[in-house]
Parts: sequence; C-alpha cells; structure tokens
Amino acid sequence: MSKLLPCPLFIGGEWTNVSGVATTPVHNPSIGEVIAETPLCGPDVVDQACRAAAEAFPKWMETPPVERARVLFKLKVLLEDHFDELALSVTREHGKTLAEARGDVRRGLENIEYACGAPSLLMGESLENVARGIDCDSIRQPLGVVAGITPFNFPAMVPLWMWPMAIACGNTFILKPSEKVPLTSIRIAELAQKAGLPPGVLNIVHGGREAVDAILRHPTIKAISFVGSTPIAKYIYETGIAHGKRVQSAGGAKNFVLIMPDADVGNSATGLMESAFGCAGERCMASSTAVAIGKAADTVLPALVDVVSKIRVGPADRDPQAQMGAVISRQHADRVCGLISQAEGEGAKPLTDGRSIKVSSAPNGFFVGPTVLDHVKPGMVTMKEEVFGPVLNVVRMEDLDAAIELANTSPYGNGAAIFTRSGKAAREFRHRIQAGMVGVNIGVPAPMAFFPFSGWHASFFGDLHVQGREGVAFYTQQKVTTTRWFSYGEGSIWSDK
Ligand code: NAD
Repeated sequence: MSKLLPCPLFIGGEWTNVSGVATTPVHNPSIGEVIAETPLCGPDVVDQACRAAAEAFPKWMETPPVERARVLFKLKVLLEDHFDELALSVTREHGKTLAEARGDVRRGLENIEYACGAPSLLMGESLENVARGIDCDSIRQPLGVVAGITPFNFPAMVPLWMWPMAIACGNTFILKPSEKVPLTSIRIAELAQKAGLPPGVLNIVHGGREAVDAILRHPTIKAISFVGSTPIAKYIYETGIAHGKRVQSAGGAKNFVLIMPDADVGNSATGLMESAFGCAGERCMASSTAVAIGKAADTVLPALVDVVSKIRVGPADRDPQAQMGAVISRQHADRVCGLISQAEGEGAKPLTDGRSIKVSSAPNGFFVGPTVLDHVKPGMVTMKEEVFGPVLNVVRMEDLDAAIELANTSPYGNGAAIFTRSGKAAREFRHRIQAGMVGVNIGVPAPMAFFPFSGWHASFFGDLHVQGREGVAFYTQQKVTTTRWFSYGEGSIWSDK
C-alpha cells in the first residue's frame, strides 16, 4: 500500500490535520486500495468553521461583487492550468474514466465561469412612479454563512454547483464533501486560496452523519445546499427547515428513456448506452429504464447489445482505453450484483451480464460489467430501487401513451428522455412527462451552469434549485425600497405645487 494522502480541514484559511477521531477510508476503486482516511469530525469542528465563516462574512459582503468575481476568475485560470491533475484526482478517488473525470471538472468550471458574472446576476430591478412621485427598487443581499453537503458521484462538479455562486453573492461557505471523495475539493480549495480567496470565505469540514447533524442545527448557518440520495435529502430538508434554515435538497432518481419505433437505431442505441453506463451508472441523470415502444425492441435492442458488449471495462487511472470504470466500493458492487440476481429471479432476462466480470489488470478493483435486463416489469426490484450502477432495465410497451403513464408512476422526477424522429411525439412527451430535465434525442439531459437543475417530486425538496438564476436567488435575500422625496420649506428649489 502506498503512502496515504492527507485529508486536512480547511478553516479560516488554515489547513489542519485532525488526529484522535474515527476515520473512514477513501479508496481508489480502480484497484481497491485505500488512498486516504477521512476524519469523521463532529460538532466542535463545525462550530469552529462557523466561527471562521461568520468572522469573514462582514468584510466579504462589503467586497464589491466585481472584486469577488475577480478572485473567481483567477481561480478559473488556475483550474484550467491544473485541469489534468484535477481530472486524475477525480478518477483516483471515484473510479470513473479520465474522459468522464474531465467532464466532471469541466461542468464544475462552467459554474465558476457563470459565477464570475455575479455583478450582472445580482442586479436588482427598479420602477419609477409606482405612484406619483414614488419610486421602487430591489436589491439582492447575501444571507451570511451558508453550507453545502455533497455526494460521492461528482467530486468536482457538485461542490462547484454550490460554493462559487454562494461566495460570488457575498456569503461565506462551509463545505462538507462526501467522506468517500474529499480529495478533489481539498485541492480546489488550495487553488482558491492561491487565487486570493480571503481566509474564512470557504471552509471545508469532514465527516458523516454527525458533522451533517451539527450543520443542520448550528444557529450561524442560514442556508444549506444538499445533493445525495432521496432519504437523506428529505431528512436534510425537513431538519434544516425545522431549524429555520433555507434548504435546497436534491435527491436520487430513476430516469426513463423512451424509444419510439421511428427512432434512429444507431443513435438511440449509442445514446442509451452512454446514458445507462457512463460513469458506471453512478449518475443521477443516468437512464435506468429504457422503454422500447412497439417495434423498437426488435431494432434498437440488438444494436444496444452490440455496443454494450464492446464496452471496455478497466482501471480508469491506469488504462487510458477504459470506457467504463469501477463503482465506488466493494460493498456497492456486491449490492448491484445482488439486485441483478433478484431481478433475474423475478423474471428479467440479462442480455448482457456484468456480475461475473473479471478485470485481469486490476483484480481487486470494484467492477461490475454493463448489464442490460430485458423483459423487466413494473414492480420488479430494479424498477423500484435506485440501483446507481451499470444496470439498464428494458420494458416493452405498446404505445407512447402507455410509456408516458409508466414513467409518470415513478416517485422520482429528475430526468426523462425520448428518442424519436417525430416532432409531435417529442412535443407530447415534453408536455406530459413528470420530470424536471427532459432530453429529446439526448440520453443525458445534463444540467448546465446557466440553467437551474430542475428535479421534481422525490428528486428534489425545496423551492429554489441549484445553478442558474435560481442559484442566485437561493443564496440571496431581496430588499425592496420604496422612495419619496419632498421639497423642504422656503428656499427650496422645488415647488410644492
Ligand atoms: P448519500 O445520500 O449517501 O450521501 C450524500 C451526503 O450525505 C454525504 O455527504 C454524506 O456524508 C451525507 N450523509 C449520508 N448519510 C447520512 C445520514 N444518515 N445523515 C446525514 N448525512 C448523511 O449519497 P451518495 O451515495 O454519496 O450519492 C449518491 C446519491 O446522490 C444517489 O442517490 C444520486 O441519485 C444522488 N445524486 C443526486 C443528484 C441530483 O442532483 N439530484 C446529483 C448527484 C447525486
């Protein structure tokens, strides 16, 4: 085993290695080795971070937006300079391929680019003469100390959905990255410090439930952004609002992709493959169920099996040809294989089967091969549970109506897509589907920095989503001023008439 990488706290501009607390291992999933230990901190550390963030807030809030943006712009340049290093860091702690890790960093960087526009994004509105001689205007001010709690599956992008915009708006921030992948956030914070971010504006604490509970209850924290699984997202939302905080809480997903009989066969097979098996299915926008409508099953399924069976699975950090990497842990790999077996027991037919995959170059890696399950029926386990691994259900349906109805029975509503040549079918789908992110001939309608990531139902708890203008609204509070000026006494240059 090689030397462990450090996993320090970042509080008030100081880096501190913690000792004397329990830790949890960070693995390189490609080879199954422990590369770091995340300290599981508690309320004392969260309190320390709150003090540092509260101390930094008044000065940071008074820093002109354009100066705050300038720091972010410097950070953007530094991240571009260190792009390959950051992608490798993502691959090393997560297991996704280098191409996917580059996408993770790129999408994150776009959030910094968007946040650089804070001076324009923060501009208020004004109206002259709301009544005679009376004017009205609105401004946006920061909330204070805000916090973010993030999942393992996008070590760079998801934290960057949160803190760059929060600090661009004048808040100070406490990030608790996933204890499974804390290292990329640490490196990005080092670069933020190098870019000139003042002490206490961004703070990083480490831990699991205890740290999260301390964040949820700390009176200094005004708002919480969360991304993770639905049960935890719901818990965060309910506990956060019960403690008087503003909360945006994104949860899990089960995304449907509908294939119409008229869909282009090659493009839909490739789109489905990329959607279901990109990042080994560990994406909240991954398609987990393909609905083959009418004859689509006869045309698209063979093409899908053909492309899926050619996917090269391998250790992403040492095999540049790998098209799919490992999943996050041995325990998760076992869970995914168990769900495949359970679905098979319920009558599903594996067209490709990832349970028995052997990767000779990395025998200890956490691999599950891409698995397509045909003849899946509503109610089977892989239809109900978020598998979050490389497993695609195929359900056969007669027509578009039945397919939309099936998709709309899902308790989730993160994303949904349709492959078709028919504008009418696409329009009908977009109008009726109960999901916040919709793809037309796109398997992954990925969230972009300048639009809100609009999950619905059990995929989101709260009112204002992350990213785009909703992100700006979430991290600010509005003040509306109504103004009237009188003329004062004799000698005034104004007439009272
Ligand atoms: P997770 O819910 O296990 O963990 C997310 C965060 O919550 C982590 O920081 C973790 O430390 C904390 N946490 C875990 N258990 C907790 C508990 N009992 N109490 C308090 N905090 C707790 O999620 P994960 O496994 O890291 O990530 C995968 C999940 O995230 C999937 O469900 C995926 O769909 C979802 N996700 C959603 C989106 C979205 O935008 N909707 C994006 C990415 C991932």
